[in-house]
Amino acid sequence: MNIYKEIETAFIHGGVNGDDTTGAVNVPIYQTSTYAQELPGIHKGYEYSRTGNPTRAALEALMAELEHGSAGFAFASGLAAISAVLSLFKSGDKVIISSNVYGGTFRLLDKVFKNFSITYSIEDTTNIEQLESRITKEVKAVFIETPANPLLTITDIEAVSKITKKHNILLVVDNTFMTPYLQHPIDFGADIVIHSATKYLGGHSDLIAGIVVVNSEELAEKIGFIQNAAGAILQPFDSFLLIRGIKTLAVRMDRHVENTGRIAEFLRNNKAVKKVYYPEFDDFKGSEINKKQAKNGGAMISFELKENYDINKFFLSLNLIILAESLGGVESLICHPASMTHAAIPCETRQKTGITEGLIRLSTGIENINDLIFDLAQAIERSEIK
Ligand SMILES: *Cc1c(COP(=O)(O)O)cnc(C)c1O
Repeated sequence: MNIYKEIETAFIHGGVNGDDTTGAVNVPIYQTSTYAQELPGIHKGYEYSRTGNPTRAALEALMAELEHGSAGFAFASGLAAISAVLSLFKSGDKVIISSNVYGGTFRLLDKVFKNFSITYSIEDTTNIEQLESRITKEVKAVFIETPANPLLTITDIEAVSKITKKHNILLVVDNTFMTPYLQHPIDFGADIVIHSATKYLGGHSDLIAGIVVVNSEELAEKIGFIQNAAGAILQPFDSFLLIRGIKTLAVRMDRHVENTGRIAEFLRNNKAVKKVYYPEFDDFKGSEINKKQAKNGGAMISFELKENYDINKFFLSLNLIILAESLGGVESLICHPASMTHAAIPCETRQKTGITEGLIRLSTGIENINDLIFDLAQAIERSEIK
């Protein structure tokens, strides 16, 4: 039955292949809310599109296969996906999050789930011993991103999973930055993988979507129940767009990664740049761990300009690279984490975790590298305070 072995092929042929009824090579957009039943309860497997829709089901099967899990679930956004996972917990439970998770994940815990007495603590998940010492009987899950947002902090998935398994709690990994092309958290012991599919999976900055993949039947049943009960599902058209985006993930990622390597090198050798955060650099903390668990360092980098460069002048001087939230699109996007993606995190916490006012995050697109470097070089030059 195995007609392919490689993930590049799975991106194109995985999950549900085409449409048996018509021979269409793509899964149709089943734009319907409900389904005719022959007799009450007798139907073709679908009753109502919140519960199940064939286009969404095709995407969910594809994501389960790509992430080496047992089931996948598609949500209206990455945060809806994270919200569904947090809904597994009850009042009195606690979740440990790593110190630089996505700002929205922090906000969801701090401003919404806290009201239901589901609490959190922020820990340095790169320090495994210390992490284990923070696991009390209230802690029901460890939630990590690796590389994390925006300093690309690397957490050892396997080492954390040994601890979570020992204490019989869940390990949740937000795999948005790496995608299943570069990293498979479930292979290293994660129980749940989350994606903001808005980013690389969609890949074209034209949709908002979230994915949850689980590693067991038990979790599949629970997340499936929450997905239907709470109802933050992904629509058929967006499910189609996502399947379409995933088909080109490997070729896009290869170019994203190649361009990022070139830009990281350019920035490191530029006299205006104080520091570059990039997991592919051998002297980057955690680069060895990243090599063990991922194909490469991905396509996100952050950097700081020296004090004699005006960061706003730099942003204003960019002509090609777009100042915007989000990442993972074909176009290069740049952002200022302290005031944009991580503004929800209190200033003091931001400073402590290294998200300084001077930090710049770049999501390298798939444009020609010469144009990107030209744009960065001229903007840096113009931003010098003379
Ligand atoms: C964007 C993002 C999210 C949130 O996803 P949305 O699709 O914007 O709701 C979560 N985690 C990471 C790492 C992200 O980059």
